[in-house]
Amino acid sequence: MVVKKSFRFRIFPTKKQAELINKTIGCSRFVFNFFLNKQKQKDSYWYVVEEMVQNGQLSANHWKGEFFNRYESVKAVRQLKEHYPFLKEVDSISLQKSVENLADAYQRYYKKQNKAPKFKSKKNKVQTYATKQTNGNIAILDNHIKLPKLGLVRFAKSREVTGRIVNATIRRNPSGKYFISVLAETEVVELPKTNSSTGVDLGLTHFAILSDGTKYKNNCYFKVLEQRLVKAQQVLSRRITGSNNWNKQRMKVARIHEKIENKRSDFLHKTSTDIIKNHDIIGIESLQITNLMKNKKNAKSIADVSWYRFKTMLVYKAEWYGKTVVEVSKTFPSSQLCSSCGSKNKAVKDQGLREWTCVCGAYHDRDINAGINLKNEANRLLTVGATGVA
Ligand SMILES: [Zn+2]
Repeated sequence: MVVKKSFRFRIFPTKKQAELINKTIGCSRFVFNFFLNKQKQKDSYWYVVEEMVQNGQLSANHWKGEFFNRYESVKAVRQLKEHYPFLKEVDSISLQKSVENLADAYQRYYKKQNKAPKFKSKKNKVQTYATKQTNGNIAILDNHIKLPKLGLVRFAKSREVTGRIVNATIRRNPSGKYFISVLAETEVVELPKTNSSTGVDLGLTHFAILSDGTKYKNNCYFKVLEQRLVKAQQVLSRRITGSNNWNKQRMKVARIHEKIENKRSDFLHKTSTDIIKNHDIIGIESLQITNLMKNKKNAKSIADVSWYRFKTMLVYKAEWYGKTVVEVSKTFPSSQLCSSCGSKNKAVKDQGLREWTCVCGAYHDRDINAGINLKNEANRLLTVGATGVA
């Protein structure tokens, strides 16, 4: 199966390269906003005509608004360059890509999948531009990545990029660091079958516990970093907004955020890959996404976001590697059932028991027992007709 994989690296542009990156980000934004403005004008005619229909001045609205056409726009980019010569200084493919991104955003908007595209601002936290592969203009050479107009840019090669590079997005973070995401198409070979199935119980004390007792601990490194983040934010709040010291502190906060995010991503990837490698069938409780949106600050909802990302990773990796993830309904009482005899003990939930002994005499660790129940339920669902396959 051919899949798209993204590889993210930190890049270390020279001063000159950084200037050009910043310029390209600016030009991409300019082109994006230019065509967005144009399209908004076109769309506004539709409203004018619609109003006339409402008022009975016209019988029907035949104004189609001329949906955004990316091919015309590529031509228009060429013309735009004549009017605005500064656009010629940067990677021209990135300008085309900017138009394509806008076209895609409009397509989704017209299909009602998205809100209307918004103007890009210089003040947005993260600044990016994207470029596409054409005739080997993006390539990896040792610890450098070749990019259009920029030439060779040194990067922190933390892993090998496998497959054919399709596109690349260059990003400047609020901390002033530069990153690149390389998207590559690659053929994925299924992993060997292990004939093993497992249930995954997600929790706050441990991130995940498997039915065989394997525990994936929430990396305690987060805690140290999170404490540092709280302190840094307190210092920031005491600084005068806009002052030099405020700016320095803002960078500091951003860098800690970044570190936490990188650590977390890494942890989620390693954990999900590990489980997929070792098991063929993975049972997991379904998550309620509505809870994700409620409160973004508390520990539980931060965990919710991680669980959701983790589950998404499990699902796509299972597809890549020929494994099966089975989603077990939220109403299934995974922690309350005895995995030996099947009787239900409500006290586990009501009293929040961590360990308990069933009437049948079986002794249970709450999470491992829940994992076993999820595993059994996943296998049952698969045999009765694959309902609930994620
Ligand atoms: Zn029992």
